[in-house]
Amino acid sequence: MQTIIKNGTIVNSYGRRRADVLVEGDMIAAIGNEIYAPDAAVIDAAGCYIMPGFIDTHTHFDLDTGTALTADNFDTGSKAAILGGTTCILDFATQERDGSLQAALDEWHRKAAGSSCNYGFHMAIARWDDGVAAEMEEMSRQGVTSYKMYMVYDALKVDDGQIYAALKKAKEHGALIGIHCENWEVLQRKIAELKAEGITEPCGHPLSRPAEVEAEAVNRYMRIAQLAEAPAYIVHLSSAQGLAEAERARERGQEVYLETCPQYLLLTDERYKDPDGAKFVMSPPLRKAEDNEALWNGLRDDKLDAIGTDHCSFTMAQKAMGAGDFSKIPNGGAGVQHRGQLLYTYGVCEGRITLEQMVKYLSEGAAKLFGMRDHGEIAPGKAADIVIWDPLYKGRITDTEHAHNCDNSVYAGFDVQGRARDVILNGVHVVKDGELVQSGCGKYISRGRYESIR
Ligand SMILES: [Zn+2]
Repeated sequence: MQTIIKNGTIVNSYGRRRADVLVEGDMIAAIGNEIYAPDAAVIDAAGCYIMPGFIDTHTHFDLDTGTALTADNFDTGSKAAILGGTTCILDFATQERDGSLQAALDEWHRKAAGSSCNYGFHMAIARWDDGVAAEMEEMSRQGVTSYKMYMVYDALKVDDGQIYAALKKAKEHGALIGIHCENWEVLQRKIAELKAEGITEPCGHPLSRPAEVEAEAVNRYMRIAQLAEAPAYIVHLSSAQGLAEAERARERGQEVYLETCPQYLLLTDERYKDPDGAKFVMSPPLRKAEDNEALWNGLRDDKLDAIGTDHCSFTMAQKAMGAGDFSKIPNGGAGVQHRGQLLYTYGVCEGRITLEQMVKYLSEGAAKLFGMRDHGEIAPGKAADIVIWDPLYKGRITDTEHAHNCDNSVYAGFDVQGRARDVILNGVHVVKDGELVQSGCGKYISRGRYESIR
């Protein structure tokens, strides 16, 4: 089975060129202007960009937080992802406190079966001991080469010594550890203080975990990684102060990788005053306009490495669980479908980043960092996961007109330009003119060692 994509402009992180792309099976077979493939199906990409399929480094599908189950499972979440041009998600398989990594991985494979985009798993470690350390080798063998540890949440929090030990062990296996950086003990105290003052509304959420709560934790993580002599990855970096702490570690010579999310580029804590302020409750919380700007500048200056959505959707009915107590609002928002459009509209079209940087942040950076050698580039021999991007499409995001299985969007009201007009997944033309025409075509991506890119 051959498909040829004609008349488009190929965009990779390192440049663009006008050329046709020949897909054979699930691989890109050739690129050029004189490809002879008379039997191939033809896709006309005139006026469009041909980009490597987007990789979302951060999703939570089918996650039970203990008080709420995410609105999106792998079926609905992966459909929203692929419609937005995301051909691969990296979801967080999450260890039970008293369970093994293998049990968590098995469980997430079960949840993800039938996905409409490709998927890989980071492993969230909720307990660190010798048994878990010994499992890392087997995780690598099964294609899990990145981990997450939380400095927060009672069911997941690990201590600094455990982070130190895990960093050392992960380094032996060429694996990366991402940390959710916030100071749990301090923010818990701040929540109690706010409640004692009678503050129960969503506006208490950002007050309880200001940027300093993140920056302190980033600084601590950077020093722990320095002591462990290990590379460090920070998930969902949200603040200018946090970025500054990570930059200080780099100035000391440390290898540091940073992920941010569209919400920390585009939304501010003013939104917690909205009537539907609960919608915006996520951790870290939304920050100030200056933080948005610092992160955009960081993207422009190549200080960041990847953009994930932290897609973790809840309905407004679920969000209402926190009426009268902001600390009980389920944390998270929906965004997996809109990452490309938001970055294109507010990044590329507004001149903050280049089209090539968009490809780096949405695809190539993740492919390299997370050991996906066949991905992140339009080139012969690479996987045929391809987005045909129509730059002229115009639309507006609303609370209801999206493919997420929930009744809200933190980006409702945002005008967007550009869209994934067509998407090829594993060589199959799954999205045509913005419609998902073949579902369930996703497969598990077994990943290799991370690639040092700094
Ligand atoms: Zn997350």
